[in-house]
Amino acid sequence: MRLSQLFLKTTRDISKDEVSKNAQLLTKGGYVNQLMAGVYSYLPLGYRVLQKIERIICEEMDAMGGQELLLPALHPKENWLATGRWDGLDVLFKLKGAGDRDLALGATHEEVVTPLGMTVLQSYKDFPKAVYQIQTKFRNEARAKSGLLRGREFRMKDMYSFHTSQDDLDAFYERSIEAYVNVYRRCGLGDVTYLTYASGGTFSKYSHEFQTVTDSGEDLIYIVPGKGRVAINKEIIDDPEALASILPNYQPGDEKKLETAKAIEVGNIFKLGTKYSGAFDFEYTDKDGSRKVPVMGCYGLGPSRLMGTVAEVLSDEHGLVWPEEIAPYKVGLMCLRPGDEACKKAADEAYAALQKAGVEVLYDDSEASAGEKFAQMDLLGLPWQAVVGPKSAAEGKIEWKKRATGEKSVLLAGAWPF
Ligand code: ATP
Ligand code: MG
Repeated sequence: MRLSQLFLKTTRDISKDEVSKNAQLLTKGGYVNQLMAGVYSYLPLGYRVLQKIERIICEEMDAMGGQELLLPALHPKENWLATGRWDGLDVLFKLKGAGDRDLALGATHEEVVTPLGMTVLQSYKDFPKAVYQIQTKFRNEARAKSGLLRGREFRMKDMYSFHTSQDDLDAFYERSIEAYVNVYRRCGLGDVTYLTYASGGTFSKYSHEFQTVTDSGEDLIYIVPGKGRVAINKEIIDDPEALASILPNYQPGDEKKLETAKAIEVGNIFKLGTKYSGAFDFEYTDKDGSRKVPVMGCYGLGPSRLMGTVAEVLSDEHGLVWPEEIAPYKVGLMCLRPGDEACKKAADEAYAALQKAGVEVLYDDSEASAGEKFAQMDLLGLPWQAVVGPKSAAEGKIEWKKRATGEKSVLLAGAWPF
């Protein structure tokens, strides 16, 4: 893609409302545009990042046996009354449809997927099953000052699993932890994301959150020593019994000695037990002909929050720094002197060669100054920069820079450093 043809305007002017680092960087870089607090457009560059994150999530969910579907975003009030969440979920957007009908905008989908599951899963032979979707969710969040980290409209992957036994749910739940770890690793956050014990398990002692350490995080976690990347959400920390089951040789007060960190929740998995299947009188016929209620799990992950988190955590003073797997383009190619015929020819050739090799490349052949080009390319944060100037063109060479480290190398045209 030629930068001159891209639907993009990088900018220094950011609205004063945008106090969060991720929103500032992503707006400056032309990745997103705020429509109102907590609501963003994803421009072509930003949408490429979001789609790549979502593709990774789909791959990992498919690999563990999830099946993708798409549920409606517009829900009837009755389904939410059945679970007590019409009044119980404070962030639920409610609206009136034709004929004065009460409707909700999907904030989560237990209310839709559970009655749907009933229509398909009728015999013990139909289990286990897991379905997931990636969809825009709506929540009337009180504070929406954190850019993509807390949207009122945002993307969520939500998976729901149905089982005939607790053991089967437990085994699937463990597999989901591995899948989530893969997602965060592939998105470049593996080193700073912690499997975190949290309250809120309905039929188990805990739920698990995945928390990424960042100063902009709203949660406080206690890091468990000697267990890899494991932590405890501070909100459960005062229950000695729970602590004793997580911390080896726990003595009261030990938690106060643990290292703490601010973190953002990038995923959350729950064992729901029969909470929702019970609410909808979901029963299946077991082997012996008896009627039983299935147990369920739910597994949430926010691709747009993940994108904002990557922007927060991996950026530097020059701008964004995308990890390879989710970068909108792999290479940012710059022609420093498009007016110089030899320079332009060398850069055009490099562009053609990279494209031919299937490398995603963004080509800046504009008339802007070298300084402006460098600054803009740093801001955009593509993993590799390739520079063709009159001197390197004459020598048949290209100068490469790795964005994350600043490491430079000069290679013969036609060779690249990855
Ligand atoms: P939080 O505690 O941060 O409000 P939550 O516990 O309500 O989040 P879940 O209902 O567990 O969130 O949603 C699953 C995932 O969806 C979260 O782990 C997060 O990644 C993402 N998510 C939730 N709320 C938002 C939001 N307002 N904006 C962007 N992503 C969100
Ligand atoms: Mg949560």
